[in-house]
Amino acid sequence: MKEELYCSHCGELIVDEDYGHINGEVICSDCIERYCTTCERCGALMWDSESYGDDYTVLCRSCYENHYTRCYECDALLHNDDSYEYDGEYYCRECYDNVCCGDSIHDYNYKPEPIFYGDSSRYFGVELEIDIVGKDGAYADEILAVANDSDEHIYIKSDGSLNDGMEIVTHPMTKKSFHVSSTL
Ligand SMILES: [Zn+2]
Ligand SMILES: [Zn+2]
Ligand SMILES: [Zn+2]
Repeated sequence: MKEELYCSHCGELIVDEDYGHINGEVICSDCIERYCTTCERCGALMWDSESYGDDYTVLCRSCYENHYTRCYECDALLHNDDSYEYDGEYYCRECYDNVCCGDSIHDYNYKPEPIFYGDSSRYFGVELEIDIVGKDGAYADEILAVANDSDEHIYIKSDGSLNDGMEIVTHPMTKKSFHVSSTL
């Protein structure tokens, strides 16, 4: 004779084969459907309230603790491979860029009030995209320090078309002042 099983949550007799276990306790298929979820990584069954993931990713505690973290700044769930460490804390890419690049690399949409150099009806500007070398705040600071030594000649933005770089943009200048600003 088969041993009768009862759901540890609702107390009902288990009548089908779709029951599961949480911490060794039997849970009926109804309760699983209503109150449980499954870890996306290891497939473990758990109560909805015990999910350590977010709205998009369901994770059990051990998978979360072993493979995931949360952005120190915006609290986004991050796989360890997608997290960036800065000063002992972990960040998502976006927050990392903000935190570590400070003000030196602006958003792509950044458009400051143009500063016109020289006096003419025609002004020139350059957008120089540098890629692969890295979207690095310290590097940007260096470029800015040289180019903007005397005046604010350039600014630096991030650019979605670049994999891992940034865009250097000059303020409008006459041809003459281009030559004059030898730093460029
Ligand atoms: Zn049940
Ligand atoms: Zn898991
Ligand atoms: Zn973040």
